[in-house]
Amino acid sequence: MTQIKIVRTLRDLRGQIWEWRGSGETIGFVPTMGALHDGHLSLIRLSHKHTSKSVASIFVNPTQFAPGEDFESYPRTEEADVAALASAGCDLVYIPEPGSMYEENHSTSIHITGVAESLETDHRPTFFDGVAIVVAKLLNRCAPDVAIFGEKDYQQLATIRRLVIDLDMPVKIVGAPIARDAHGLALSSRNQYFDVEGLALARKLNVIMQDCAEKMRGGMNVDLAAAQAKQTFLDTGFESVDYVSVASTHSLTPLAGGILDRPARLLIALHCKGVRLIDNCEI
Ligand code: AMP
Repeated sequence: MTQIKIVRTLRDLRGQIWEWRGSGETIGFVPTMGALHDGHLSLIRLSHKHTSKSVASIFVNPTQFAPGEDFESYPRTEEADVAALASAGCDLVYIPEPGSMYEENHSTSIHITGVAESLETDHRPTFFDGVAIVVAKLLNRCAPDVAIFGEKDYQQLATIRRLVIDLDMPVKIVGAPIARDAHGLALSSRNQYFDVEGLALARKLNVIMQDCAEKMRGGMNVDLAAAQAKQTFLDTGFESVDYVSVASTHSLTPLAGGILDRPARLLIALHCKGVRLIDNCEI
């Protein structure tokens, strides 16, 4: 098992990064909010394919939670997270001291349009503002060569790609495939909120999504197939559906007239026994 280094201050983080750079190492970075599962660890493993050193961060970012969301109750499992990162060969974990990420007079915001509009933003209007500022700060702090983000949060990945291009940040963004459990449920820190019944229902999300994607591939109008899937989710017992949408793979623009005329992604957000789930797949 790798000897993982735990750093809690920006000074210590930069000190180690500079030391590594001085000896010719390259740095891969995986930002997380902790409560780690194998999906997060797959990002660390992917990082090793691109760079010689891997750095993870654990920070539950308050600015991406809206009032009433689960910021306070979000699972915090630092000891287990550090052990899991070490087992995946992570070289360093940065766990900023509470209060050290945003100064009292923090006054800068980043608002991204285009890919960050619609879908998630229709339901969580300030979410990507929170993601953009924390990712920009973490990338500035760590200064990695490569940063890895999961396709699980597909619109987030597209938004971060836009952010680093628009702000001329010298980092390569790599997307990682979605890690799923044996039943096809996308791994998520929030899956631990489920009881047995909730988990059984949640596992139907991927089944219905794959069936919908298959119909679209088979030539069914995507708007019609999406509307049918939405109804199937409700009939199956999901309490509400935020969206079942099809968007162009790279720009995330909607497909006109429901015609599958270019590479496209099926994106879904819904509520399952009090837990909001998102998932997506290539069509
Ligand atoms: P989070 O801790 O939920 O903010 O996630 C940290 C990173 O892990 C993000 O880039 C997520 O997209 C990624 N991630 C979370 N779940 C999965 C998964 N099931 N498969 C792949 N990546 C994931």
